[in-house]
Amino acid sequence: MIFDTHAHYDDKQFDNDRDELLNSMREKGVGTIVNVSAAYESCERVVNMAQKYPFMYAAVGIHPDEVGSLDEERFARMKELFGNDKVVAVGEIGLDYYWDKESHELQKEWFIRQLDLARKLKFPVNIHSREAAQDTMEIMKEHGKGLSGVIHCYSYSKEMAEEYVKMGYYIGVGGVVTFKNGRRIKETVEAIPLTSIVLETDCPYLAPEPYRGKRNNSSYIKYAAEEIARLKGVSYEEVVNQTEENARKLYRV
Ligand SMILES: [Zn+2]
Repeated sequence: MIFDTHAHYDDKQFDNDRDELLNSMREKGVGTIVNVSAAYESCERVVNMAQKYPFMYAAVGIHPDEVGSLDEERFARMKELFGNDKVVAVGEIGLDYYWDKESHELQKEWFIRQLDLARKLKFPVNIHSREAAQDTMEIMKEHGKGLSGVIHCYSYSKEMAEEYVKMGYYIGVGGVVTFKNGRRIKETVEAIPLTSIVLETDCPYLAPEPYRGKRNNSSYIKYAAEEIARLKGVSYEEVVNQTEENARKLYRV
């Protein structure tokens, strides 16, 4: 069944039909979802949701756009959440020079501290990186040693993806692979082995064609999986089964 490795179901865009939508996932072929925090306030929310739904797990971490709200006290409180048995990863963490909401120095500082936390607690990482290819790679090489994880919503060159694969990381592929202008991620999918790809929505964002621009949800992953099957010349079932196996290895569930 489909394993959605990166979703944001605590987002207010799901306030009106969250329960109904999530309870319909199984019949739509979605077996497992990892609910990922972004802002400090969402850390506790994603953990509470993972406790409510048996098919859901949580990733806890602060997105680079949100690191300005962190301090030592909040970081300590965030760390306590890793004691919960439904928490499977540190994320999403990284660098975002596209929105550039916080200084690069502050983004790097908290990115590195959260990587160190993952190593100390022995958790995989869920990496967000936008318009920050070089700095992310440098930090991952220096501070990501010995870690496992996924580069979520991968948007850089196929060469860099091959480098991450060599380092043992998975590449997260979602709705963008169905876009007409998604040439780079299509090339990446062709270049790397299926054993290094995991599926994701990043919902409510990044809905695939034919729903581009609408609210995304995990059942739409099938459109990304269909495109990956086409690009790799394998069956849809093989994509779903292999990426599920990959995701279980990644998150150890
Ligand atoms: Zn995300």
